[in-house]
Amino acid sequence: MTLKKAHELAPGGIITEPGNSQEFKTGDWREQRPVWNKDNCIHCLFCWIYCPDSSIRIVQDESGKWRMDGIQYDHCKGCGICAFHCPGKKGNKALVMEREEK
Ligand code: SF4
Ligand code: SF4
Repeated sequence: MTLKKAHELAPGGIITEPGNSQEFKTGDWREQRPVWNKDNCIHCLFCWIYCPDSSIRIVQDESGKWRMDGIQYDHCKGCGICAFHCPGKKGNKALVMEREEK
């Protein structure tokens, strides 16, 4: 591997293109991932409220109610906040963290 010279590196702390964070897949360096068990989900949306990376997908059902619809893994960093706050059903969590298999 050839190392880059200092003048070839991207300058730190500078946003060269506005609005490009969507393209930066922060999920690449995740060590754990949340796994959703929909059978234990009560659709409280605590996970959606607490997720710092907007990685919880939600959809509206035919009655207009918002419901949990899974996880968008491109930007999920595996922090585990969603699983920590998930109440689940009767003590059985709907979100649990599992080791990421690369
Ligand atoms: S916090 Fe848990 S129970 Fe609530 S919507 Fe998310 S996955 Fe479902
Ligand atoms: S692990 Fe963290 S980043 Fe990923 S969905 Fe849960 S709260 Fe969001």
